[in-house]
Amino acid sequence: MVETRNPPWTRDELLVALDYYLDNTDDYFSPKGEGVLELTAKISQVAKALGLTGSDTLRNANGVSMKLLNFRAHDPNHDTKGLSRGNKLEEVVWAEFADNPKALKKVVASIVDATRAAMSNDAPVLPEDDLTEAPEGQLLTRIHRYRERNAAIVKRKKASYLKQHGHLCCEACGFDFQANYGERGSGFIECHHSRPISEFVAGETTKLVDLVLLCANCHRMVHAARPWWTLEELRAALDTGQ
Ligand SMILES: [Zn+2]
Ligand SMILES: [Zn+2]
Repeated sequence: MVETRNPPWTRDELLVALDYYLDNTDDYFSPKGEGVLELTAKISQVAKALGLTGSDTLRNANGVSMKLLNFRAHDPNHDTKGLSRGNKLEEVVWAEFADNPKALKKVVASIVDATRAAMSNDAPVLPEDDLTEAPEGQLLTRIHRYRERNAAIVKRKKASYLKQHGHLCCEACGFDFQANYGERGSGFIECHHSRPISEFVAGETTKLVDLVLLCANCHRMVHAARPWWTLEELRAALDTGQ
């Protein structure tokens, strides 16, 4: 039998594990415990939704238990009992979310929803592009992209903006494709989904107010690093030339 290496933990999986850790900080995380077993099943589904493949041990209870103990090593309220051999991403995820368990809970609920959608084949499948994964993980990043490329709502957004302002332009830098490129630029602008996917309740769809019009440059800059810029942050960066 060929030994298959398991892929490293993804942000999505770590977020689900961290949420569990923060709810059970004093647990021993026994791999035989009911909580860890349930969590393992949940994380395995997320791994599947992400298309991860590996050996039979791809996210088994021992691995999940170890990951929880890795988090303990980052926990300032526990100076012992942690496993210090973790990976870098764990540290990043801890730094981003450990102080904000409420926000993390929303993110994890959305990841679970997205996982369910992926398993029922009703998932956004998109080609990989150069967008930097959101702090909320890959599944929610895909939903973000899917929503901002939804042709029907993008069309409605452009029509509404055009009606209100008389022309289409970037809401951050003011770039107007038609004014700069002539007829070829007519109707050309990108849509960015400005509201974090984790803030949506299950089944809630994108509204026009959730979208902003951005030129291609500004849109790429928003997604070029984590955390993604808000419209305000983008405008501030343009102002100061940072
Ligand atoms: Zn722009
Ligand atoms: Zn975007």
